[in-house]
Amino acid sequence: MTSGALDPAAAAADVIIVGSGAAGGMAAYSLTKAGLRCLMLEAGRDYDPQAEVNMFAPESDAPLRGAATPDKPFGYFDATVGGGWQVDGEPYTMQEGTDFRWYRSRMLGGRTNHWGRHVPRWGPYDFKPFSRDGLGVDWPIGYDDVAPFYDRVERMIGVNGGRIELENHPDSPAGCLMPPPKPRVTEMLIKAAAESLGIPVRPAHTAVLTRDMPDDVAPRSACFNATPCTRGCTIGAMFQTTTSFLPMAKATGRLTIVTDAMVSRVVMGAAGRAAGVEYVDRKTGVRHQAKARAVVLAAGTCETTRLLLNSGDGERPGGLANSSGQVGRNLTDSTGASFRAYVPALADRPRYNEDGIGGQHMYIPFWLYQQQKRGELDFARGYHFELGGRFGIPPAAALPRVWGPALKKAVRSASGATIGMTLRGEMIPNKDSYCEIDPAVKDRFGIPVLRFAFRWSQNELNQVAHGQRTAHAVFKRMNAVILDPALPPEKIITAGGEIIHELGTARMGADPRSSVVDSYGQTWDVGNLVLMDGAIFASGAHKNPTLTILALALRASERLAERFKSGAFA
Ligand SMILES: Cc1cc2nc3c(=O)[nH]c(=O)nc-3n(C[C@H](O)[C@H](O)[C@H](O)COP(=O)(O)OP(=O)(O)OC[C@H]3O[C@@H](n4cnc5c(N)ncnc54)[C@H](O)[C@@H]3O)c2cc1C
Ligand code: SF4
Repeated sequence: MTSGALDPAAAAADVIIVGSGAAGGMAAYSLTKAGLRCLMLEAGRDYDPQAEVNMFAPESDAPLRGAATPDKPFGYFDATVGGGWQVDGEPYTMQEGTDFRWYRSRMLGGRTNHWGRHVPRWGPYDFKPFSRDGLGVDWPIGYDDVAPFYDRVERMIGVNGGRIELENHPDSPAGCLMPPPKPRVTEMLIKAAAESLGIPVRPAHTAVLTRDMPDDVAPRSACFNATPCTRGCTIGAMFQTTTSFLPMAKATGRLTIVTDAMVSRVVMGAAGRAAGVEYVDRKTGVRHQAKARAVVLAAGTCETTRLLLNSGDGERPGGLANSSGQVGRNLTDSTGASFRAYVPALADRPRYNEDGIGGQHMYIPFWLYQQQKRGELDFARGYHFELGGRFGIPPAAALPRVWGPALKKAVRSASGATIGMTLRGEMIPNKDSYCEIDPAVKDRFGIPVLRFAFRWSQNELNQVAHGQRTAHAVFKRMNAVILDPALPPEKIITAGGEIIHELGTARMGADPRSSVVDSYGQTWDVGNLVLMDGAIFASGAHKNPTLTILALALRASERLAERFKSGAFA
């Protein structure tokens, strides 16, 4: 890895890739395999999971016994370095009345170094939402266009899971998935209760290996469920670009990575083409330019948007690739809400090893499409529940107000007896949710920052209220004690951005007048500028986005490589 300034010998790249997370990692892997010379510019610092991950260090080795602090919200050993909910010297602002959170992992590999790894496939309805309910817009592509890329991505990154066999939840063809881990006891109890109410519970699809994945350059091992995944995974069981795509792409000899390189704008050349980018060496503050025949922006939804908005000039006062006026609009995140209960039947359960993988083994996919079609629900689109319930310190709400030996006994008894159902749902884009450049504030490099506006609509509030009723019905069926007070949806829904699924601010479409890119991420206005992250999504879906980001980045990279071969950039 090169840090900061670029070695002049490496400057003549075919493609500049901005960002090294899920989208940038896939672009580097696919484009270098296709024979293209790539220069990757990453704003964060270099990061080596083999040398830096403290998989086995006891919490007692850490300050405050590893507890979360404002700069390490997931604990001292968390894999996110150089970023998080706040990045030093790189603020963002909000319109009055907005509460928006923006999580940035400023490091090689981006947010793939610590993520939840829940990777459901999207289904046919998710790409054509307008046709179904008249809200938002349809994608210019459908499930059948993306399915072959899902098949390949699942095999490439290593996904475990089982069959779903439900409407709008397409199953993977044989050979795509690794076997799922066995359900945990709490999951089996939730399944029995939920299914008696007609609510399905299915194996989750997770980007964690349950079988070894041999490779000459980046061999990865099956998960042995030993340590918290938030610290990162030195054995390579969970998918992150730093233990897979990046070393593989480097091994081709065609990838140069420059870390600590904060790209500030796309530089335009002749004939309406991008000539390269300008970036700031974070360590020295010195500005550099790098040139290439094509530029890929994969800096994460909102950073990619910021780059476009900051790359305007006299000819393009509203920002680059923004003739539609859609850059920054249509910002969505997933809805979120958490529900917990104490299950007396599980009190004092015997201690045993809950083998499997880190995170949930089972989840509840959305199951009410037919009721929705018949108009029986007061919200559009879906939600799912991620399931929790393992040994550990129980929440305070599950403990009596006693102390000393009685408290110790209560903690031991309740450990493993509390369960959680965490809702993630689809938000419909609305005109009050967007990001734009703040005219008054710049970051420490002098780059104008983003200002967010965000609002949930009644649709999302109704959806969360429905989820609350569902979770409570399942808990009651288990004779469990609900641990959270009954609050209205506006009090329990997460803040915008908090679920870290921000999408849509440079959306794709079939018409350049109402969209920013085509279905391959190519901007309508600049033929050699391609976007590959969640900015290009035409809508959200309740299903987590990263498998789809990876599939679309693979599809876009292969298209870009074909265009190189056909002489489009000669
Ligand atoms: C705690 C957590 C849990 C999550 N759980 C899930 C989950 O279960 N399922 C799921 O699907 N998704 C999940 N996500 C979201 C997932 O991580 C993202 O969708 C995914 O990483 C997005 O990939 P990306 O390449 O667009 O962005 P990132 O992975 O964020 O990568 C962007 C990279 O670009 C770099 N960059 C930014 N600006 C610049 C610039 N100006 N110049 C140069 N480089 C720049 C950044 O430093 C970063 O390395 C989770 C995220 C977090 C943090
Ligand atoms: S639980 Fe599995 S995936 Fe998570 S860090 Fe441990 S070995 Fe890696």
